[in-house]
Amino acid sequence: MNEYDSNRIYDLAKKINYEQTKNFNEADCYVLNTCHIREKATDKVYHDIGRVKKIFKNKKKPIVIVTGCVAQAEGEILLQNEKYIDAVLGPQSYHIFNKTLLKVEKSNDQVNSTEFNVVEKFDELNFIYNSNNKVSSFLTIQEGCDKFCKFCVVPYTRGEEYSRSINEISNECKTLVSNGAKEITLLGQNVNAYNYNGHKLSTLINEISKIKDLKRIRYTTSHPVDFTEDLIQVHKHNEKLMPLIHLPIQSGSNKILKAMNRKHNIKDYLDIINKLKKANSSVRFSSDFIIGYPGETEKDFKETLSILKEVEFINTYSFVFSPRPGTPAAKLKEVDINLAKERLIIFQKISNEIKMRYRKDLFNKTRKVLIENKMNTKDKFFGRDEHFNSIVIKNKNDLRGLIIKVKILTGNQNTLFGTVIEKEKSENFAA
Ligand code: SF4
Repeated sequence: MNEYDSNRIYDLAKKINYEQTKNFNEADCYVLNTCHIREKATDKVYHDIGRVKKIFKNKKKPIVIVTGCVAQAEGEILLQNEKYIDAVLGPQSYHIFNKTLLKVEKSNDQVNSTEFNVVEKFDELNFIYNSNNKVSSFLTIQEGCDKFCKFCVVPYTRGEEYSRSINEISNECKTLVSNGAKEITLLGQNVNAYNYNGHKLSTLINEISKIKDLKRIRYTTSHPVDFTEDLIQVHKHNEKLMPLIHLPIQSGSNKILKAMNRKHNIKDYLDIINKLKKANSSVRFSSDFIIGYPGETEKDFKETLSILKEVEFINTYSFVFSPRPGTPAAKLKEVDINLAKERLIIFQKISNEIKMRYRKDLFNKTRKVLIENKMNTKDKFFGRDEHFNSIVIKNKNDLRGLIIKVKILTGNQNTLFGTVIEKEKSENFAA
């Protein structure tokens, strides 16, 4: 979502004659668009500002604006501790980026804008042309979260759930497609909680599927509680919707899920998985896991390993629990860090084995790959198949934006390598 937000900040700034520079040393303004999910996010901000200070030691100071969730959660402290920062702008206030920048240009005062103005923000952004021209583009459709998992900062930094209208999303989608996008990933902190006047994510997906040159649709990130039957049915009937579903589970233990306030249990989760598999046999799953959440015993951890093996996730994102300031879980007694790290190693080893088994099974098989970029290495192209696997092929012609049939020859944990069998024949060659 930060990538989407950063692009929109560029689009806004163009209105006041700023443009993106690739030469850091010459920037008049630095925008640090921050994420608060990862560890030590605030330290990273200070570190980055230290780098800017070094570059501009003997030059005129650039304007420095910190945006994103760190600005929202810790903006006041950042302004107090680091006078080099000119302004902090929360993720729901960046529509006033230009106003803030112009204000900073004229005065020496630090500016703090961290109000939750999500409605105003999208009202404003709807009139700003989205200039993103990537083959695979992001589009924010929903923001915020009402779930309040005990470890998570999102409800405090992005605010309550908000959904944009189908009409405005559809218009932005058409703009991105006319800019060259063939694939759109619909974004939301709780994307399947999307609800605009009773219209759910399923309706939205079916609506944007009507855009002729849009070939692929993805969405992320989902919550099991909002995985309703209508969405499962879209996976059965809509061929543009890709069959890789990222569905965070966090733990395989009902006791830990309850302690996390996840609002679902293992049975609920497996029911969704099984229904999706029944609806569409090509669906595969990826997920997020927190290892060593406060209170996690050996038994709980074994249950996590058990769900990992049962679902056979083709990709997992796993981290040792680390407390986020201001969340209820930050007050809990932590599992011994060495024990948690040992568990993480065991978890990741098994996860990687599952992933490699799945990947080896793809060798000598044909995948439909949307080519996104030409790589720096001569004649090499990067693309992704239906399951979001990274695939590299060699070809003399420019294949960007095409969906091609690729025979997979070999691969590793990160990338699969293949050879072109057939190029896109017609518009009906949708993935
Ligand atoms: S559902 Fe996701 S975004 Fe919402 S509180 Fe839980 S982890 Fe955070």
